[in-house]
Amino acid sequence: MSRKYRIDRVEVTGATPFLGYDRCGAPMYSRDPERVMSWLGDAWRYRFNQLRSRRSRYLMGAKNVLVPISDNPDMRSIKETREDCSWLGSCPDLILLSCQYLENTEWFAATKRRKTNVKHGRKPGPMPSFRRKRSGLRFTVLRNNGKGYRIVTYSRKHAEVIIGGTNPAGHRIPGDGARFQVHIHFRLSRPVLDSTSIHVNWTARTISFTSPIPEHDHTPTGRRTGIDVGVRHEAALSDGRLLDLPLAKLKQLDKRIDKLQRAQARCVREAGYSNAKPYLKHGPSKRYLELGRQARALQERKTRIITDWQHKTSRWLVDRHDLIVMETLQAANMTRKPKPKPDPDKPGQWLPNGHNAKRALNKGMQQASLSRLRGMIEYKSKAAGITFLTVNPAYTSQTCHHCGHVAKENRESQAVFHCHACGWRDNADVNAAKNILTDGLRILQAQAVAEARSGRDTSETRIQDTRPQAGQAEPMAVLQRRKTGRTGNTR
Ligand SMILES: [Zn+2]
Repeated sequence: MSRKYRIDRVEVTGATPFLGYDRCGAPMYSRDPERVMSWLGDAWRYRFNQLRSRRSRYLMGAKNVLVPISDNPDMRSIKETREDCSWLGSCPDLILLSCQYLENTEWFAATKRRKTNVKHGRKPGPMPSFRRKRSGLRFTVLRNNGKGYRIVTYSRKHAEVIIGGTNPAGHRIPGDGARFQVHIHFRLSRPVLDSTSIHVNWTARTISFTSPIPEHDHTPTGRRTGIDVGVRHEAALSDGRLLDLPLAKLKQLDKRIDKLQRAQARCVREAGYSNAKPYLKHGPSKRYLELGRQARALQERKTRIITDWQHKTSRWLVDRHDLIVMETLQAANMTRKPKPKPDPDKPGQWLPNGHNAKRALNKGMQQASLSRLRGMIEYKSKAAGITFLTVNPAYTSQTCHHCGHVAKENRESQAVFHCHACGWRDNADVNAAKNILTDGLRILQAQAVAEARSGRDTSETRIQDTRPQAGQAEPMAVLQRRKTGRTGNTR
């Protein structure tokens, strides 16, 4: 997990960092925060791309033929690179070293994701590529027992990270010394946890601290719940609770975004263009760009509100329960478009099928948000050591919780469940959540029976072994393995 903070300012103390040679061959020294931070970002990207250039990919169309992704893979070590490129000479080691880890993780995460996508019949998605300059100035520093960076807290609201570096011999201003320190001051919006690395995004002026997921002591409550995540209500619990996003606030923001976008469209019309594409090519006005910036800022605010709500809600759910049951995620359903409707009167033409670009986008965002909530509940459950189960989602919304009658007609509308066999009425989502809990309990019972039969103890042992070993921070890899290795979508 990571915590992000806003950078207030940067200052450089000690020696003046050596930033390489300019075009005329004169050495460049600077304490200007903007120049120093851009230099660190460039250095990090240079090393990252150097490592990336050594990767290979399978040749299109041919089987098992590996070709390097780059025409000239760069095999130089950090030491050799420093010797060749004088501008990297004084870049702190632990910034360049961090590329090794990040490039590797990113590459294998992407190749694995591509394989999974193909396996599920989806498009594989793009190959991971080089870091572009336009993706922003950013760099990572490894902590390495406090050698990489140090955190100093000044007050309740103010702290700084200090990164140290040394100008190489021959690139020092006489009488200035060799060591320099980059101080990144940030606003302490919440406590900083013990971290393993920091990630600085100079373009966005943010700094994040990466730390292992903290262990969370869970006090048993004896409560169990099934959760149905959905579009109408973000989450419905089997005890009848409906959890909703702060919709009023989000709608208000939507209105403001719409207004800005309409103003942008007006800019395009007034300039005499029918749509934005040729207008942008021609060169948009300052006002147009400013409106776009404002709309993006609001959009980001919306995302933050949703993420905040999701973190708080998932924490609340995990603290409050000993057993949580949810539906197995179905990736195939998420990308399905509505079927095209042929027009019976005019052959070859189509009726509106409720699918347009904006709706597709909204739907995609909604679904991404739902799977994120689910992911949060899942990982927080595991960190707290409570039981998290997933069940097959088939028929959970059509089954009557009261009598077990399964029929499509039972679902009277999106919101109301009305059983045609016994007359039972309930909120449709709550009814589904109740079915999910029942299914989950059935799985647990089956497990207990199976274990008792094989001579082992009851389900207690299984519930307990999900808890991480006390006193040890668990590496992500192990957590991941546990996540995938769990008994889950059995019925
Ligand atoms: Zn019924």
